[in-house]
Amino acid sequence: MPAPQHRQSRITGALLRWYRRNGRALPWRRENDQYRILVSEIMLQQTQVRRVLELYPRFLKRFPTFRSLANARTSSVIRAWRGMGYNNRALRLQQTARTILQQHDGKLPGTVETLQQLPGIGRYTAHALVCFVFGEPVPVVDTNIIRVLSRLFPRAISRDRSGKVNVEAVWTAARSILPRQNAYRWNQALMDLGATICTSFNPQCDRCPVTAFCPSAFRIKKRSPGTKKVEPGREGIPNRLYRGKVVEVLRNVNGRRFLSFSHLAKQVKPNYGERDKRWLRGILHGLERDGLIATKRRGSTLLVSLPE
Ligand code: SF4
Repeated sequence: MPAPQHRQSRITGALLRWYRRNGRALPWRRENDQYRILVSEIMLQQTQVRRVLELYPRFLKRFPTFRSLANARTSSVIRAWRGMGYNNRALRLQQTARTILQQHDGKLPGTVETLQQLPGIGRYTAHALVCFVFGEPVPVVDTNIIRVLSRLFPRAISRDRSGKVNVEAVWTAARSILPRQNAYRWNQALMDLGATICTSFNPQCDRCPVTAFCPSAFRIKKRSPGTKKVEPGREGIPNRLYRGKVVEVLRNVNGRRFLSFSHLAKQVKPNYGERDKRWLRGILHGLERDGLIATKRRGSTLLVSLPE
């Protein structure tokens, strides 16, 4: 157990009271519709809340149900994902909608194990859906919650020599402290605390509702974001961004028209030269393998478009 019972219940009470007054009013928290909650969870996997708030209503207007998403052309779904980044998620979301219609009678399955078999749904998202859609008392562990719990329960949650948190220990702690009657609000409260107060850099312990119970309070060294991990790329720009640029250029092509490789190359990398050919072919190959673009040949010319 990460905390004696009385300390644990005081933490629970303090955090839930704080959440009642300070919880973020996010539209998916007012939702009962499982499709809408699923869309928000997939979007939030890799996009900041601020951006999702902007794009979520637009996507739902375009694809309001599992069926509308499942029946859409994939190119339309990729177009509607504009601005969200990590376009693979759009494909997986559509595949999930199709699987739900074909294999689950149009409804999300209600267990973590079955949800994890759907495309793009990992351990965190499966638990989030079981809790937020079905109201089941299961823990939810995302990056924010890992940080909050590892600071609140440093004895129960070990770290390796480099300071990396043992994530399995976080799941165990999260399960053992979960207030079963208030699982939904507790999980949302932990996420909000991590997003707004117990942040990675410079946590605001003086404003935190659980300061009195936190062994790490005022002990986290103030620091600025460190240097980012170096990603593979070209001329200082990560390949990830070039992949997004390829999809963005194709999104702007009317209808199902194909672009020639050389035309596309100039739009993706304005100073494109012969030396970049092999590298850009590699980027296109990866996108095609992921199902995000389609290619065909006309004579010696490679033509590229969004998939059907
Ligand atoms: S007291 Fe500080 S370190 Fe502890 S949970 Fe609150 S913000 Fe995080």
